[in-house]
Amino acid sequence: MARKYVYSFGGGKADGKAEMKNLLGGKGANLAEMAGHKDLRLPVPPGFTITTEVCTHFYSVGKYKTFLTAKNSFPTQQRRYDDRREEFSCKSNRKYPVELKGQVNAAMKKIEQLMGKKFGDEKNPLLVSVRSGARKSMPGMMETVLNVGLTQKTIQGVIKLTGNERFAYDSYRRLITMYSDVVMEKAASIEPKEGQGIRQQLDRILDKTKKEKGVKTDSELDAATLKNLCATYKAKIKEVLGKEFPDNAEEQLWGGVGAVFSSWNGRRAISYRRIEGIPDEWGTAVNVQSMVFGNMGDDSSTGVAFTRNPGTGENKFYGEFLVNAQGEDVVAGIRTPAPVNAYSQSDNNKNLTTLEQLMPKVYKQIEDIRKRLEHHYRDMQDIEFTIEKGKLFMLQCRSGKRNGPAAVRMAMDMLKEKLIKKEDVVTRVTPSQLDELLHPIIDPKQEKLAKVLAKGLPAGPGGACGQVVFNAHDAVVWYKSGKKVILVREETNPEDVEGMRAAEAILTARGGMTSHAALVARGWGKCCIVGCSEVDIDAHAKTLSVNGTTLKEGDWITLNGSKGTFYAGRLPMINATEENKLFNDFLKICDTIRTLKIRTNADTPDDAAKARVFGAEGIGLFRTEHMFYGKNSEEPLFKLRKMIVSKSTDERRRALNELFPHVKKDIKGTLEAMSGFPVTIRLLDPPLHEFVPHDEGQMKNLAESLGISMDVLEKRAASLRESNPMMGHRGVRLGVTYPEVTEMQIRAIFEAAAELIKENKKVFPEVMIPVVCTERELDHQLEIAKRVYKEVLAQYNLKQIPHLFGTMIEIPRAALVSDKIAQVAEFFSFGTNDLTQMGFGFSRDDIGGFLLDYIGGKILPEDPFQSIDVEGIGQLIEMSVSKGRSVKKDLKIGICGEHGGDPASIHFCHKVGMNYVSCSPYRVPIARLASAQAALADKPKKKK
Ligand code: PEP
Ligand code: MG
Repeated sequence: MARKYVYSFGGGKADGKAEMKNLLGGKGANLAEMAGHKDLRLPVPPGFTITTEVCTHFYSVGKYKTFLTAKNSFPTQQRRYDDRREEFSCKSNRKYPVELKGQVNAAMKKIEQLMGKKFGDEKNPLLVSVRSGARKSMPGMMETVLNVGLTQKTIQGVIKLTGNERFAYDSYRRLITMYSDVVMEKAASIEPKEGQGIRQQLDRILDKTKKEKGVKTDSELDAATLKNLCATYKAKIKEVLGKEFPDNAEEQLWGGVGAVFSSWNGRRAISYRRIEGIPDEWGTAVNVQSMVFGNMGDDSSTGVAFTRNPGTGENKFYGEFLVNAQGEDVVAGIRTPAPVNAYSQSDNNKNLTTLEQLMPKVYKQIEDIRKRLEHHYRDMQDIEFTIEKGKLFMLQCRSGKRNGPAAVRMAMDMLKEKLIKKEDVVTRVTPSQLDELLHPIIDPKQEKLAKVLAKGLPAGPGGACGQVVFNAHDAVVWYKSGKKVILVREETNPEDVEGMRAAEAILTARGGMTSHAALVARGWGKCCIVGCSEVDIDAHAKTLSVNGTTLKEGDWITLNGSKGTFYAGRLPMINATEENKLFNDFLKICDTIRTLKIRTNADTPDDAAKARVFGAEGIGLFRTEHMFYGKNSEEPLFKLRKMIVSKSTDERRRALNELFPHVKKDIKGTLEAMSGFPVTIRLLDPPLHEFVPHDEGQMKNLAESLGISMDVLEKRAASLRESNPMMGHRGVRLGVTYPEVTEMQIRAIFEAAAELIKENKKVFPEVMIPVVCTERELDHQLEIAKRVYKEVLAQYNLKQIPHLFGTMIEIPRAALVSDKIAQVAEFFSFGTNDLTQMGFGFSRDDIGGFLLDYIGGKILPEDPFQSIDVEGIGQLIEMSVSKGRSVKKDLKIGICGEHGGDPASIHFCHKVGMNYVSCSPYRVPIARLASAQAALADKPKKKK
C-alpha cells in the first residue's frame, strides 16, 4: 500500500489524532484532535496535513541535498526515501514523494465537498491557508501564506459570493504581500539589502496610500483603493523580483507548501532550534486548511487566547482579539488588540470593547470550548479562533507556553480541581521554570522609593537590570563582552531571537501579551515588558524618551516584569522564594515522589542555614579550606600559613594547635545548623602553596611570627611550589605526609560533635578523605581517625559519637578499584569535578579556552563540567557504584561535584542508584524537582 503522506480533518472526522505529533506536527495533530475526537468535534475549518516525513524527503532529495548532507543535518536513517523512486516537481525544483500529488488532490476534494466550494473555481472558489507546524511550537519562526487560491478570475467569484468587493481585494493584497515575501523572495533564497525586502517595499506603498487617502488604518481603505493597490503591488513585484505574481491557484498552493518546508531551514528557524535544542531532523509538517475570514466586516474578528492566564497562572480566561482582521494582524502588533473580557483588560486596551460585550453569544461559545478543551487535554491551552460573520471557528489549540510562577500555580490549581494527579503536577514544571522562581525580584523597599518611568504589560516575571541596547546585534555583542543588557525595541520579530536570548530582559513599546516578544520571553522565563506605549524609541539615534526623561545606549534601567513597570538606573534585587507558599507546597509534592535525598554543598553555618530553608537534608560537602577565604578569614588564614611553612613536626604542631579552635568552631556551627542531618566534612584538599602569601607585607608578618628571616621563609615557600599542583601534593597525600594535619581536623570534628551531644543536640558528621586513589591511603587515615575517636570519647565521657568514615571517588583509579576501597570506606561521594578533569584530561580551570570550539564543532555535545558525560565518566561512576556495593550492599553513595545540581545529571545519579545528590543551596529546589521527575521517569521500567 502506498505510504500515507496526507491526513485529512473536518466534518466531525479526522485521520490523525493528538498523539501523532511526530508525524503531523503539533498544530496538525491538535487540529485533527479538535476536529475528530468524539468529545470535542469543534468547529474546525476542514483541511489536511502533509506529514513531517515529506519535509525530510524534501531535504534529502531536493535542491538542498548537497548543503544539508555536507552539514550532516539529517542522519542517514532519515534519508530512507532517498531511493530510486520517480519524483515529481510542482513547477519548482523541490522534490516530493511521487504519491504526494495524488494524495493532496484527494484531500483537497474532501475539503471542497465539505465546504461546497472548489479550489481554483471561477464561480465558487475555495481559498486555503498554508501553514507550518513542527512537533514543538516554534512561534513565528516559520512561514504562513493565507488566502491561497485568489487569482484575477477567482476574485470575481469571491466578490459575487460575498457581495463584498472591499473584502475580496483586502484578502488579495494580503496574499500578494505574503506570497511575494515568503515564496518568491525568502524561499528563493533572495537576500535583499536592509530595508529593501519586497514586504517592506510593499508596506511603504501601503503607508503612502493611507497618507494620500488621509486614513490611519488599513480597514479604512475602500475597495477601489485596494484594487489599485493590488495592481501596483504586482507591478512592483515584477520590477523588484523580475517575476510575475502567479495567477494560478495550483501554482500558488505548491509554492506555499514548498516555502513552508524551506522555512524549516531559514536562518531564524535554525537559530531558534539551536537555542531550544530542537533536532534538525524533525522537520515541519504543512497544514492546508480552508480559509475562514475574520476580515469580512464588523461582525467578523480573529483572536488568540489562553484558557488560563499564562503570566500568573490564574484560572481565568485570558485573551485578545481584533475586529475585522486576519490572524497575522494580532501577532504583528500593528493594531492594539481588544481584550476578550474584562479580566484581560490592561492600561493599553481598557477603552476598547471586549468580545464579551460585542458578541456575547460567541463569547459564551468560546468559554464553553475553553472548558471542554481543558478537560480534554488536562492542561492550559493556547487557542486561535476566527469569527466569520458571527460564526466561530477554531484554528489552533496547543499546550500554552507559560512562565515559571504560572506553571507552578496552574499545576497546583489543577491538582485541587482534580484535573490532574500529583505525578502530573511534578512533570508540569520544568527545572528551568522552577529556576525562574528563584530569580531575583527588585527589592520592594527600594522599588517603592524609585520613580516609575512608565508602565507596560507584564509579559515575563521577575526583576532585571542592565544597560540599554537598541538592536539584537548589539545585544549579542555587548553580552559577549560580559555586559548585562536590556534589549529595547519598538517590537521584536523572529530575527531578534539571538539578541533576546543574550539580553537580561526585553522591553518593547508595542505589542500585547501574545506579541512575539511576550511569547518568546514567556517560553524562556525571561523578564519582559511589552506594549509600553509611552516610550518613544529612536532606534537610529539609539535613544528612548519617556515622560520627559531621555536615555541613551548604555544607560542602566531596571525592569519589574511582574508588574510591567520600569525605572532609570540600577535597583537592588532580592530573592523572593523563601516566602512563596505555593512554591514550597509544590516542592513538598516532589518530596513525596523522589527517592534521592538532596543535600547541599555548604562551607559556612550561614550557607547551611540557607540550604535548610530550601529543603536540604544534609551537607554533602563541607570544604574545610573555605574558612580560609572571605569574611573573617584573616586570623585562621594566618595560622594556617604558619602551619604550612613550618619545617619541623614540632613547629607544625604548635601552629596546628593555634588553628584548631577556628576549625572546631566552624564545624560546630555547621553541625548545629543541620540539626542531626548528616554533614560530610572533607579534610583539607588543595595544594598547600595556594595559601602562601604573595604580598611582601604579609610575608614579613609571617616571618616575624615564626621568628625566621625573610630569606628562610622564601626558601620554604619556594620548596612548596609544584609544576602540576592539581596532580601534586594535595588531599589525602598531605595527610599521609603530615598525619598531624589529619589528626587536628578529625579531633576538631569529634570534639565539636561531642560538645553538641553534651548540649543534647543531634549530630551526624561524616569524615571524608579527598583525592584517594588506593585503599591503603584510607587505611592510613582510618588508623588516625580511630585513635582520635577513642581519645575524644574518653575526654567527653561518651559511649559513642554517631559518624561515618568515607572517601571521595574523584580519581579514575579509585573508580576502578572501588571494591577494594569499599572494604575501608563507609561511604562514597563522587567528586565529579575532578573525575571529569582527570577522566577527560581537560583542566577544569582552562577548558574555557577551547570548549566553544568543541561544542560548536559538535565534538562534544555540551560542557562535561556542567552535565555528566554519561558515555565516558558515567561508565566510571556506574562501575564504581557496582563494585562498591558488591562489597558493601548498603554502601551510602552520593555526588558532590557541580553536576549534583544539574537536572540531566540528577537523572543519571538516580538511575545508577545513588542515595543522594549534593549541590549549592540555590540549586536545592531544582534538585528536589529533578529527582522527583527522575523517579517518575523510572517508574514504568521498575514495574515491568
Ligand atoms: C570534585 O572534585 O568534584 C569536588 C567536589 O571537589 P573540588 O571541586 O573541591 O575539587
Ligand atoms: Mg575534587
